[in-house]
Amino acid sequence: MRTLSLLSVWTAAAVLLTAQPRTLDIYWIDVEGGASTLIIAPSGESLLVDTGFPGNDDRDAKRIQAAAVAAGLTRIDNLVITHFHGDHVGGLAALSKAMPIRKIWDHGESIEASQQKGATLWLDYLAVAGSKRTVVKPGNKIPFAGNVDITVVSANGEVISEPINKGFVNKLCDGAERKPTDNTENSRSTGFLLTYGKFTFLDVGDLTWDREMMLGCPVNKVGEVTLMQATHHGFSNGQSGAPALIWSVKPQVVVVNNGARKGFSNGGYETIAKIPGIEGIWQGHKGAMNDASHNTSDDMIANLDEGAADKGNWIKASVSSDGKFTVTNNRNKFSKSYTSR
Ligand SMILES: [Zn+2]
Ligand SMILES: [Zn+2]
Repeated sequence: MRTLSLLSVWTAAAVLLTAQPRTLDIYWIDVEGGASTLIIAPSGESLLVDTGFPGNDDRDAKRIQAAAVAAGLTRIDNLVITHFHGDHVGGLAALSKAMPIRKIWDHGESIEASQQKGATLWLDYLAVAGSKRTVVKPGNKIPFAGNVDITVVSANGEVISEPINKGFVNKLCDGAERKPTDNTENSRSTGFLLTYGKFTFLDVGDLTWDREMMLGCPVNKVGEVTLMQATHHGFSNGQSGAPALIWSVKPQVVVVNNGARKGFSNGGYETIAKIPGIEGIWQGHKGAMNDASHNTSDDMIANLDEGAADKGNWIKASVSSDGKFTVTNNRNKFSKSYTSR
């Protein structure tokens, strides 16, 4: 039975190869200053956060589909729409035609549904989301692949009432700058904390300064995190990016999903650079409005050029179960590895 034993050796080797532990992968897809973050659990289950802009020959839906296909996906299992602005929900109609989307999570009715532009976005959304929708509240969990926890920390203008992730009384709140209550969809953003072992990822969409302060003061309710997607594409000229939250959350790595001329300014870079213990700043685009000392190093920027020369490169983080993770720039394959604290 020589043939059979060789076959079983071969089979055992194949099992060993395929049994290699898979990583949790996060892609920041280039949607030119909109938002689209694709999360794939080690099990292969997927969760897409936002769908970029509409129009431009369905550019953003095509880029999302390309990233999903490159990651081996044939469908999107879960979609979170943080809020109903065109740069977050605009690509949904085209994406839903390109690939199946199973479940959709949102914060409830758009606060801008009575305005002309807001009404169109809202009704277009309902036409696609329909019976797939689930409305989430702060504190809810979005069921995701077994060992990856996703807890909603903000939605519909409210934030979690009890701290999670070892939240703590935040000393940075004393005398911290406050800003007026925001009444746009931005402040309604659904934000979440993802936890995979020691690794944590905070994405609060376009949450505004006033709501960031609710999340961070007087108690930091989300604790310290490993990686943060810079709020509002890089704090959008002080509309977001309250230091009392950002500096106490203390991300080791920040990914800025800015456009070449959207979301990110010298001031936004300063806020990130001053995060205690910051180890890496990665950008979707070179900020054309920022000076040279207020952009991260070119190696860590996915897209250096504007307009037609922009190739739509993504940034990717691959996270191992032991908390080690590697961030890669798809433009030049430059990568850096980090260890979750
Ligand atoms: Zn936005
Ligand atoms: Zn917005």
